[in-house]
Amino acid sequence: MSYTELSLLEFQRRFSTEEACQAALEQARWPEGFVCPRCGHRKASRIATRRLLQCSACHHQASVTAGTIFHKTRTPLVKWFWAIWMVAQDKGGTSAMRLSKQLELGYRTAWTMLHKLRKAMAQRDAHYTLTGSIEMDDAYFGGQAAGKRGRGAANKTPAVVMVESRGEYAGFLAIKTVTTVDKQQVDAAASAKIAPGQHIHTDGLNAYNGLEALGHDHHAEIVPPNQAHEKLPWVHIAIANAKRFLLGTYHGVSHKYLQAYLDEYCYRFNRRSWEPTLTSRLLTACLVAKPITLAELMA
Ligand SMILES: [Zn+2]
Repeated sequence: MSYTELSLLEFQRRFSTEEACQAALEQARWPEGFVCPRCGHRKASRIATRRLLQCSACHHQASVTAGTIFHKTRTPLVKWFWAIWMVAQDKGGTSAMRLSKQLELGYRTAWTMLHKLRKAMAQRDAHYTLTGSIEMDDAYFGGQAAGKRGRGAANKTPAVVMVESRGEYAGFLAIKTVTTVDKQQVDAAASAKIAPGQHIHTDGLNAYNGLEALGHDHHAEIVPPNQAHEKLPWVHIAIANAKRFLLGTYHGVSHKYLQAYLDEYCYRFNRRSWEPTLTSRLLTACLVAKPITLAELMA
C-alpha cells in the first residue's frame, strides 16, 4: 500500500461528497474491483445514501462499511474523513470539543468518533513487536501528584513503557497500562510487545526479574534518579513527551481511557518521521480497522 501526501485542498477535492468517500471505502474493501459475494459478478451500482453496492446481475446488496470502524455510523462519511484529516494534521491530537465545533457534531458523537480513531490506531500498532536493544521502565500517568513523586504516586495509573534504542535515535514505542508494576504484569506487557530473545535494559526493579526467564537478555542496572536520563535515555524522553501530549490537548485523562490516549500517542510517535503522509496512513488504518461498538468503547 502506498501513502501519499495530501494537502488540504487535495483532500477537499478528493473527499468532498458522500459518494467520493464511499468510493474510497470500496477501493479499500475490493482493491481488485468489486466481486459479488453471492454470484461472483463484477459489476455493481452504488447506492451512496445507504452505503451499499448493488450487484448488477443478482441485485445482492453488499455493505461498504461492514467490517470497518464506519459500520452503522449515522455521521456522514464526509465528516468522518474531515475528522481523520484534523486528527492527522494536529501533532498534539484533537479534542472532542474542537472536533464537535469544527464539524458541527454533538459532543458525544465527536467523542465517540475520536475513540474509534484511537482504536484504529491501536489495531495498526498491534501488528508490531519490538526487537533489538530495548529500554524498559515504568511510568505513572494522570491524577493529582499532591507532592508525591515517582513510583506509586497517588491517583496515578502505572504503565510499562518499552522503546527500541537505536543509539542516535529511538525506534518503535509501546506503552501498556497496568494495575500495579509487578513481575506478572511486566511479563505480560513484554510478552505482548517484545519479540522473543531481545536485549532489554531496565533499572533493575524486582518486577523486571522475569525477563530472563522469558528468554530475553536482561541488562539490569540500578540507576540513581539523577542518572536515569543517561542510562535509559529514550524511555525517559518517551515518557516525558507522553505526559506533555496528555496534558496539552486533553488536560489530563481518566484512568479508564488512559490506554486509548497512550495508544494514540504511540501511533503518532511511531510515525513521527512519516508526518507528511499521516493523513493517508490514518485513512488506511480506518478503512482496514475492525468495527467497534460504543458498548465496547465504554467497557
Ligand atoms: Zn451478484
